Amino acid sequence: MLRPKAFWAALYLLLMLLPLLIGEWAARTAGLERRPWLDEWASGLGMIGFALVLLSFFLLGRFKPLSGWLGSDLLMQTHQLFARTAVLMLLLHPFFYSLWRAPPGPTSTSAAEVLRIGGGSWGLVTGVLALGCLLVLVASAIWRQRSDTSYERWRLMHSALALAVVGLGLHHTLVSGRFAQFGAVASVWWALAGLALLSWLWVYGVRPLWQGAHPYRIEKLERCADRIWRLEIAPRSPKGARFRAGQFAWLKLGHRWPHRDNPFSISNAPGEGGRVQFLIKEAGDMTRGLAQHTVGDTAYLDGPHGRFDLPPEATAVVMHAGGIGVAPFVSLLADAVARQDPRPLRLIYADKLRDQMVDVVALSGADALPDFQLLPMVEQPDAAWEGLAGRLDAIGLAKALAHPAVAPLANTAYHLVCGPEPMMDAVETALVTRGVPPERVVSEHFKYDFSGLSPLAKRMRQTWWGLSAASLLGLVLALVWR
Ligand SMILES: Cc1cc2nc3c(=O)[nH]c(=O)nc-3n(C[C@H](O)[C@H](O)[C@H](O)COP(=O)(O)OP(=O)(O)OC[C@H]3O[C@@H](n4cnc5c(N)ncnc54)[C@H](O)[C@@H]3O)c2cc1C
Repeated sequence: MLRPKAFWAALYLLLMLLPLLIGEWAARTAGLERRPWLDEWASGLGMIGFALVLLSFFLLGRFKPLSGWLGSDLLMQTHQLFARTAVLMLLLHPFFYSLWRAPPGPTSTSAAEVLRIGGGSWGLVTGVLALGCLLVLVASAIWRQRSDTSYERWRLMHSALALAVVGLGLHHTLVSGRFAQFGAVASVWWALAGLALLSWLWVYGVRPLWQGAHPYRIEKLERCADRIWRLEIAPRSPKGARFRAGQFAWLKLGHRWPHRDNPFSISNAPGEGGRVQFLIKEAGDMTRGLAQHTVGDTAYLDGPHGRFDLPPEATAVVMHAGGIGVAPFVSLLADAVARQDPRPLRLIYADKLRDQMVDVVALSGADALPDFQLLPMVEQPDAAWEGLAGRLDAIGLAKALAHPAVAPLANTAYHLVCGPEPMMDAVETALVTRGVPPERVVSEHFKYDFSGLSPLAKRMRQTWWGLSAASLLGLVLALVWR
């Protein structure tokens, strides 16, 4: 049977090649005259690149079945990596045309006629504008971290530019595209653009309306460690969110603006009457403003999303948490308590200071588990500290894995990792270097802008290279076939 990731990769490849394949089929059927090979390549690159742009919307559509099946990390990585491929292909698209080098016709007056772009000047204008918007979109996403732009402002701009790319790109494709003159090809473009638009409307229209009709109420809001809050919300209506342990949700407190919600891992077990608990670390505007809210305030939830399970096939699980990355593990442990999971479960929980660590056992009830051990690790321990000392990097990990409670199962266990990016990179790299198969290392990222240096991140990038190369191969085969 095809595994979810392989199925996903095959489907993605098919969809990104769909307009091209149908275009080639229609051109062949109609006996359309072949152009110089550079022109055919130019059209092909444009078609694959624009299909990728349209597909990116669907990845971010926050469709619960999709994110719960594949995990949000995989969807976000696919979105980010293929946005780069699309830009590259669309940048090359106009420059491949050999028509540039042909002399203008005797009656050519406009730029579009000189360049022989179908659809006249508007086709040229919308094509150039779409490409410009796409460049700004991707560049601002890559460099967002280095600029002072607030996340909310960036998200508004990202979303507006993305819509502009769809509208302008669709116009250019339909009026200037040689293959779009075939009804079947135009229908595919309309369908893909419609899917993109529906995904956008789902996130910014339908979901917020649904949330408005299903509000939550803050039941508990308290500090549970230095700069860490415990927030508990319960549905005001009888129907609360049904989630699986380890998932996350997008949260709004006291407002319903569609572009202002923040993702947080759920940190309690499912089935507590629809109640949802979060552990939140103060980081910026929203999280530092938690103190201004009180019990009784209204909250809105979009979720659950993502997938971060205790793998059912695992005989033992070692969890690696850095700082607030402990939040999903509290949920997984609470759920394991409810199910009385008999497997050996270990949690290596590292932080800089002891005061910043939450009481995992009290929050999850993990001391009721048949075979559980917590290994706390502090970078700057005080004199009374009895746990592990150090940072959770390659050295710290080696120390933790050598602990008698972990050593016997370290090589056969599944390893779940969540924490700051440098810690995740270090732990993933050290585990794979140690011989743990990559399929047994499962990560949850709290940052969407991850570049990842670990073997797992590299594997993801290799898949991206593979699919991009396969799409080019598809282009070659389509041309040879015609
Ligand atoms: C899947 C996931 C689960 C998370 N779980 C937790 C958790 O359990 N506990 C916790 O304390 N933190 C968690 N985070 C991180 C949390 O979302 C950010 O710390 C929070 O959104 C910061 O918001 P802010 O306005 O306070 O800070 P800002 O200064 O606005 O943001 C700081 C950084 O947080 C990220 N961020 C901010 N807003 C968003 C957004 N709407 N979407 C995506 N990223 C955003 C950006 O990288 C930004 O640069 C999680 C993040 C993700 C992606």
